[in-house]
Amino acid sequence: MDDIHMPSCAIAQSRSTLLTAVEAARVKAGRSGAPTLVAVSKKQPEERIDAALAAGQRVFGENRVQEARERWGHRRARYDGLELRLIGSLQTNKAEEAVKLFDVIETIDRPKLARALARAMAKIGRSTPVLIQVNTGEEPQKSGIAPANLGSLVGEVRALGLNLEGLMCLPPTGEPVGPHFGFLAQLARHHGLGVLSMGMSGDFETAIRFGATHVRVGTGFFGARES
Ligand SMILES: *Cc1c(COP(=O)(O)O)cnc(C)c1O
Repeated sequence: MDDIHMPSCAIAQSRSTLLTAVEAARVKAGRSGAPTLVAVSKKQPEERIDAALAAGQRVFGENRVQEARERWGHRRARYDGLELRLIGSLQTNKAEEAVKLFDVIETIDRPKLARALARAMAKIGRSTPVLIQVNTGEEPQKSGIAPANLGSLVGEVRALGLNLEGLMCLPPTGEPVGPHFGFLAQLARHHGLGVLSMGMSGDFETAIRFGATHVRVGTGFFGARES
């Protein structure tokens, strides 16, 4: 077998291992709905993306608009059922481009961005589902709305007519993640939101225990990123 087959085997294998682990965590948590494995493809080489697609993966997460356009622009039309999720922070001046490219935007964290997205969707004629990113650890350097301000942002996003599906978080590194995931789940319940995007390579099983509907796995899926 020549070299070119090596990465695809490895990625098909890691995907299958992850899907098994996701399923085991779901059963252990006694949950009925299967969580979605989002393959975070930022900074991954092209051949790994193609290997993931060949293995049947269709849901991908990206954190930058321009990088995502370069990676996905030409692939979009070739794969049925592709779902691209924006999981990185978004500048208002890129709202229109983001609406054109992404199927779900997970990172609304301020009213100004919600308004820019609403305008872009009206202009383009799309109603992209959105999540609000919550800064559960209240870290100053991290994006996400402070938990205390979530209620008013939820109200504003709904008043704009956006299709608000749920909440997303990225807990502080070096802290136990369980309390953050539990907190996000509680906030989502309080606001009647069903989608919970939480958990990454190192903690997706814990996130599923706390109710994650979407786990975002990068290195655990593809291997180490290119810097
Ligand atoms: C990069 C990234 C991930 C994936 O992280 P891994 O540790 O590689 O699984 C998940 N969520 C967000 C928001 C990210 O930026």
